[in-house]
Amino acid sequence: MTDLAVGVPRAAGAGQAPEPRVLDVARVRADFPILRRQVRGRPLVYLDNAATTQKPQAVLDAITSYYTTTNANVHRGVHLLSQLATEAHDAAREKVATFFNASSSREIVFTRNSTEGINLVAQTYGRWRVNEGDEVVITAMEHHSNIVPWQMLCGERKGHLRVAPIDDSGELVLDALDELLGPRTRLLSVTHMSNALGTINPIPAIVKMAHAKGIPVLVDGSQAAYHMPVDVQALGCDFYVATGHKLYGPTGIGVLYGRASLLEEMPPFLGGGDMIRSVTFEKSTWNELPYKFEAGTPDIAGAIGLGAALDYIGSIGLEAISSHERDLLTYATAAVQEVPGVRLIGTARRKASILSFVLEGIHPHDIGTIVDQEGVAIRTGHHCAQPVMERFGVPATARASFAMYNTREEVDTLVSALERVRTVFG
Ligand SMILES: *Cc1c(COP(=O)(O)O)cnc(C)c1O
Repeated sequence: MTDLAVGVPRAAGAGQAPEPRVLDVARVRADFPILRRQVRGRPLVYLDNAATTQKPQAVLDAITSYYTTTNANVHRGVHLLSQLATEAHDAAREKVATFFNASSSREIVFTRNSTEGINLVAQTYGRWRVNEGDEVVITAMEHHSNIVPWQMLCGERKGHLRVAPIDDSGELVLDALDELLGPRTRLLSVTHMSNALGTINPIPAIVKMAHAKGIPVLVDGSQAAYHMPVDVQALGCDFYVATGHKLYGPTGIGVLYGRASLLEEMPPFLGGGDMIRSVTFEKSTWNELPYKFEAGTPDIAGAIGLGAALDYIGSIGLEAISSHERDLLTYATAAVQEVPGVRLIGTARRKASILSFVLEGIHPHDIGTIVDQEGVAIRTGHHCAQPVMERFGVPATARASFAMYNTREEVDTLVSALERVRTVFG
């Protein structure tokens, strides 16, 4: 087995830290080489984590090591490298299953990202289950990735998209959601955590509500998965999607968890190699789970990189990451509110790691440009959530978002950069 472990550190019980450990932020920062670079002559202050996170050395090493020593195609060859590549790919899937506490790695489908995971469910489960007059329910805080695939599906199948409202703090109105879930609802698709507002939705309660009416639930875990431990069995959801590049892993790899009984029944997504058992010109039969949903050569290095990222997260501990980020959010919320003219967008009671705001009389784009001069990377715009912007009556917001390697000093740098914005435009 020794040479099988190439590029794949042993599973470290990712996501299942035994005790809340204290996060040593200096040690964590040393693991991320990009944090040593300068931007515009100043140390990089990277506060755009909700868009993508930076990568620890362990992830970079796993990818390089795979290509340097093991590269071959999977599930095909009998030659050694193909066996090693297959084992490393399978091991990565096991790590994902453990990370999300799926009951089996058969329930883990590799995708390119969350967006592809949602489209996969829309194009397979959706086309199978949604017929004329049927409904799909989403919420007013969804990312475009969890709106557009359902719009496309409903357009094609003559179904209806229903949208549960949010209140002024950015919380989902649960009674209104409950009312929307009816006999024609075929699926509820809801985000675990909003990328525009930071709101964390009470998924177990929402799932209970939907299941009481026999409605399956897809949870968009793109934001939640790198901020808090996620246990798909405890959440009770039927589908859960996540995206590797926000989990400190590479771009181009994502994850769809699906309840095995549902995945078994669903038609396949893309057709091609690997997803079939047999092919004749008359008819093909489908491969077993999860391969039925993975046509063509997968992103092998991406999966291995993601596995390394989950090991890394596990070595720090999601409880420790969560509590560190909670401290940063509390600190930043107080500090940013001190800046004259600031209005926070998203003040839910349960939120994480995201501070969205506007500055009176100053366009968010100008905020982003000025703070960039100070080496501070934040996101400005609609955050792929235009309906959320509309709900709060703003064209865009500035958004600072925190990850495990951020510090209070970086928040201070952001705040002094915002004060500069005020003097430039004030
Ligand atoms: C980032 C994000 C997505 C989309 O992720 P991709 O990697 O672009 O597919 C979807 N939903 C939420 C809540 C996100 O934050």
